[in-house]
Amino acid sequence: MKSAPLVVPVFLPQAGCPHQCVFCNQFAITGAGSGLLRPEAARHSIETFLARGIRSRTSVQIAFFGGNFLGLRFERIRGLLNMATDFVCQNRVDGIRFSTRPDTVRVDTLDAIREFPVQTVELGVQSMNDAVLAHSRRGHTSDHTRSAFGLLRSRGYEIGAQIMAGLPADSSGKTLQSARELIALRPDFVRIYPTVVLKNSPLAEWYAAGKYQPVSLEGCVTLVKKLYILFRQNRIPVIRMGLQATEDLDEEGTVIAGPYHPSFGHLVFSEAFLDAAEKCLSALGSMPDPLVIRVHSRDIPKMRGYRNRNIQMLQDRYKISALQVSASDQVEPDHLQVHLSKLLPVYPPF
Ligand code: SF4
Repeated sequence: MKSAPLVVPVFLPQAGCPHQCVFCNQFAITGAGSGLLRPEAARHSIETFLARGIRSRTSVQIAFFGGNFLGLRFERIRGLLNMATDFVCQNRVDGIRFSTRPDTVRVDTLDAIREFPVQTVELGVQSMNDAVLAHSRRGHTSDHTRSAFGLLRSRGYEIGAQIMAGLPADSSGKTLQSARELIALRPDFVRIYPTVVLKNSPLAEWYAAGKYQPVSLEGCVTLVKKLYILFRQNRIPVIRMGLQATEDLDEEGTVIAGPYHPSFGHLVFSEAFLDAAEKCLSALGSMPDPLVIRVHSRDIPKMRGYRNRNIQMLQDRYKISALQVSASDQVEPDHLQVHLSKLLPVYPPF
């Protein structure tokens, strides 16, 4: 798998959106205003970011996030892309990416950006279930997503897909089915976001009126773990799980309810390691005590769990008085060895 590019983010909260989807409040998530829609303001923001210095990475992209990029007026799109192209021409970044709704990916919008060095388009797929999309007031269907994939692929763009867990009228089964339908479209990478109730979103009103109940953090972590395993088995990189923690998001009152956690992705990986350890322990004839679990040094935090929760849980469940997680060069990443057992892969093989 190639390594992810460094992105220079330009947040354009809800710019170009035809309406507000029920779960969305990009102003709360990003803390940004709409000032960066002006190319000179966006240029200044990019210059500030680049002035901090970039450590070596395979590539660097300017990324227009937080809105519906191809839903902007064409002059606005061209103004921003012209500005970003200057950085590419100066060899200061390698290319451009943006996020947009599937229904904005059309022949005319793609013709409008053809001359610019856009490399990657991220589609806000959210779900492949039309009833779930309608309940979330997305204003597009899964057919728009299929069509967008076809058009983007025919023009050679890298395609990312964002999907959500816990949307109104959704269920674990429907979300997993959505993931399977998305896998059939072969995105180059995905991001998985839990649905949380953000202040000033339509969902916040539904929650207050008792019309929407978010999924629990534990339930969402388990569901996202299953999604992660599904994408991984199909060799589709998952580049993000959970909302990016920001000062604005962590501010009291921004997330009203729902499965928000600043280390959501870590919780998912930790649960996968806990599952694998339990599988090993339940196969042991007698329980060694003290017990040693060996993992690759990179995986120590995942095996220990958030605030050592995995260790605590294993000790309680299996009545172990002392459990040690140790790093071993003999153990590959994403594997573990419980006591003297064989090495066990944490995830099912490809
Ligand atoms: S989810 Fe996307 S399309 Fe919907 S309001 Fe938010 S930024 Fe706009």
